[in-house]
Amino acid sequence: MTHPITHWINGRSRAGTSSRSGEVYNPATGEVTAHVALASADEVDHAVAAAVEAFAPWQRVSIAKRSAILFRFRELLDTHADELASIIVSEHGKVHSDALGEIARGLEVVDLACGIPQLLKGDFSEQASTGIDVYSFRQALGPVAVISPFNFPAMVPLWFFPIAIAAGNTVVLKPSEKDPSAAYFLAGLWHRAGLPDGVFNVVHGDRVAVDRLLEHPDIAAVSFVGSTPVARHVYETGTRHGKRVQALGGAKNHMLVLPDADLDLAADAAVSAGFGAAGERCMAISVLVAVDPAGDDLVSRIRERMARIPVGPGNARESEMGPLITAAHRDKVASYLEAGLCDGATLAVDGREHPLTGADRDVGFWLGPTLFDNVAPGMRVYDDEIFGPVLCVVRVGSYDEGLALINANPYGNGTAIFTNDGGAARRFRSEVQVGMVGVNVPIPVPVAYHSFGGWKASLFGDTHAYGEEGVKFFTRNKAVTERWPDHSHRGLNLGFPTHA
Ligand code: NAD
Repeated sequence: MTHPITHWINGRSRAGTSSRSGEVYNPATGEVTAHVALASADEVDHAVAAAVEAFAPWQRVSIAKRSAILFRFRELLDTHADELASIIVSEHGKVHSDALGEIARGLEVVDLACGIPQLLKGDFSEQASTGIDVYSFRQALGPVAVISPFNFPAMVPLWFFPIAIAAGNTVVLKPSEKDPSAAYFLAGLWHRAGLPDGVFNVVHGDRVAVDRLLEHPDIAAVSFVGSTPVARHVYETGTRHGKRVQALGGAKNHMLVLPDADLDLAADAAVSAGFGAAGERCMAISVLVAVDPAGDDLVSRIRERMARIPVGPGNARESEMGPLITAAHRDKVASYLEAGLCDGATLAVDGREHPLTGADRDVGFWLGPTLFDNVAPGMRVYDDEIFGPVLCVVRVGSYDEGLALINANPYGNGTAIFTNDGGAARRFRSEVQVGMVGVNVPIPVPVAYHSFGGWKASLFGDTHAYGEEGVKFFTRNKAVTERWPDHSHRGLNLGFPTHA
């Protein structure tokens, strides 16, 4: 039995009317568990209309009351984290502890947004000119759209909408159609927290819904996270329609290991960051750059650890790596194993040989952890974002060669260096052209009060997500120059204002 997944518009559930729907799977079993409504342009318009109507009254609500609703939402999210994690596991496939982890990182942004009174404090210059005070403050933009990917169905939307709402905007969220239930659950929590109807809306859908949001004249800004080709399309289309857009794209994250590093620490980190969430993380390590003579030793320590990864259903306590999101994605990732072999890489661990992926166990979207050695630029396993449990090892002769490789890569989301040499680490963090850098930390996702975002093909737009940049993205500055009549008022003056 499958169940329908509906939109959430203006404070209540709305069944889809487009007659189009998408299948939602349990990736661990391959079963279809639900059908999600795929919105038409008209249904998107209804959600935007609700957000437009809710905007003016919501913007007038005092900062204290807005913050109080945020605190209630925070408590509800914390209390229901386990339930939400189970929903994520059932549609995404990641393991329960990992789903709890993404909720915890999303909660951090809610914590930040609870402090909106402090974040929105303006600036004041008394007596900027004689008898004149100048002050500036930031105001909400209006209805904004958030469009999110499948791999973090709770955390990525939570990067944006708590700050957007706290700052006085209204939101239309278009989550991934592959695991849409988390967004609907979050809408229910907002409702219980006392958020007025229409301030937070969820429309499910595919590119039809996305394109309508990008063109809709009443949407003021768009926060997007997904693959690079779609991020580019979202940025170009949204800005062409006069919107403020931040579009976070794909990644190919390199981990540089110098020979002086603690190789056990580095091997643990590479395996954890490469295969956690089955590699379906934008900050996953997908390329390990081993500086001579560390390569052989590292590869053997990594192989030994890979054999011990507990792969299994996300709802089993002992599992640490689950299945991939869909059969199509699993097949695409598996096709890279052939491509790597054809292009001359060494297949050191073949994920197709994992017991869960064998022909007799063809239930669910499984692929075991895979390791390629002797990879080089120009091979498809190096050039493409695979977004699965495939780790590639590139061997280089020196730090400089490793750095040049990383800086030549078109992506610039995350990177890490493993070394015990503080000077080398210091050089790396300064010279590397990547937005988020880890020093002996493999997945350097910044805390909520620093902003998240990559460089180059990993981000289109000027503003990173959350932190102070997030507050800036969802507000615009207004500067007021103010004088009250007194004896210094000297009548008409058509000259340009100066401070004389
Ligand atoms: P995706 O680009 O396929 O989809 C993202 C969103 O765009 C979804 O809501 C989807 O419905 C919509 N969409 C898909 N195709 C579209 C099209 N042609 N036109 C308009 N909208 C479209 O991404 P995904 O497969 O859901 O997620 C994985 C990707 O997201 C990876 O590339 C990963 O690196 C990236 N990602 C990046 C970050 C980051 O912070 N940079 C974070 C998470 C995921």
